[in-house]
Amino acid sequence: MDKVAKDLLREDVVAFDTEADSFYHYFDKVCLVQIATRKKCWLVDPLTPEGPNMLEALAPVFASPKVRVLFHAAEYDIYVLKRDCGFEFTNLFDTMVCAQLLGYPAIGLAALVERHFGVVLPKEQQRSDWSRRPLSDNQQTYAASDVLYLIKLAEKLEKELRKAKRLDWAVDDFETLCARRWPDREFDKLGYLRIKGARSLDPVALAVLRELFLLRDARAREIDRPPFKVLGNRTLLEIAGAQVTNLDSLSEIKGISDLILKRLGKDLVSAVKKGLRKPHGPIPKLDTTVRRRMDRRAEKRLATLKDWRGPRSEALKLDPGVLCPNAALESIAATHPKTAEDMKELPELKSWFVREFASEILGLLERQSAESESNDNAGSGADSGNAAGAAKLSGRKSGSRSSPKTAAKSTKDGA
Ligand SMILES: [Zn+2]
Repeated sequence: MDKVAKDLLREDVVAFDTEADSFYHYFDKVCLVQIATRKKCWLVDPLTPEGPNMLEALAPVFASPKVRVLFHAAEYDIYVLKRDCGFEFTNLFDTMVCAQLLGYPAIGLAALVERHFGVVLPKEQQRSDWSRRPLSDNQQTYAASDVLYLIKLAEKLEKELRKAKRLDWAVDDFETLCARRWPDREFDKLGYLRIKGARSLDPVALAVLRELFLLRDARAREIDRPPFKVLGNRTLLEIAGAQVTNLDSLSEIKGISDLILKRLGKDLVSAVKKGLRKPHGPIPKLDTTVRRRMDRRAEKRLATLKDWRGPRSEALKLDPGVLCPNAALESIAATHPKTAEDMKELPELKSWFVREFASEILGLLERQSAESESNDNAGSGADSGNAAGAAKLSGRKSGSRSSPKTAAKSTKDGA
């Protein structure tokens, strides 16, 4: 590995990819690192007794300002590599981000390779078990194909970005990704409330679901399998709804196999009983349902911003969410920035967005607030503008209370 790392340090660009096993294990880990230069390709196996430490030699490569470190859709790779190995990154380049900023309709690696090289990559092995040894020939071919075209692809995309005068946008996004820190992964104790259908359960069933959810997670850790492989969400809901308190009735529930019954039956039944004994208490609000507090004026600003974003992103041939995600629009609407400096303070905004569009946005907000002020002054507070604003606000509020998903969807559709 030291020898390889030394060679890599002499390159100006190296392509990387990693494969992990979150589909197979509770504690996911890097199972394979693919590396390609212009001439060579390596498949590195970190599942040795040494563990991820054997990748240590790559640290200076990732940290080097001279070596462009290339990924396609780097975010998850970077997250895992930082988490497991503590690597730092300095000179990242992400071909998926490039494709997004160029407004490509399809941004998957296979689509890009086909578009630019007319090559059809081997079928996705996303669900393949990368922790298995030995890796099959198919797995190895697929793994290598993930990095073999990246360098040439990046060259093409970089050229296109330069031509579109958006290369500096990409560089901003790469720098943000280098600096990104993730909090330690914590178990989501309120995860059961996020299960689809949970919110329509009565408090007793919800208390049972909570116990079942905790049991499933404990079991998943114990055997190092992802929770969904222990029991599906739908089965959890069924048990919570039926509240079965003996093995016979449990065996009749859809999704409960003989094996599950044998291994987990007793524990499931006692979880149900525990849930029945322990009232749920007030149902906590989830983060996703808590939207920024917006008054009537902020809601109006948001509507104005959305009206701007639709045609603007179309003209730029960008996905609206790439130009300015909803969270960014909401933070502008809620904080009402008066200067570009104010906008730079908002963490939801990409720096290229502020650089390129701050004056446009500020002008838009200025016109809008002047207009609504003159509207406010014209009537006694009951003019049509105000009434429409109030109606919109209450509609939005009730929408997000009953179902955050629908609210988010309608916001997106409205974009
Ligand atoms: Zn891959």
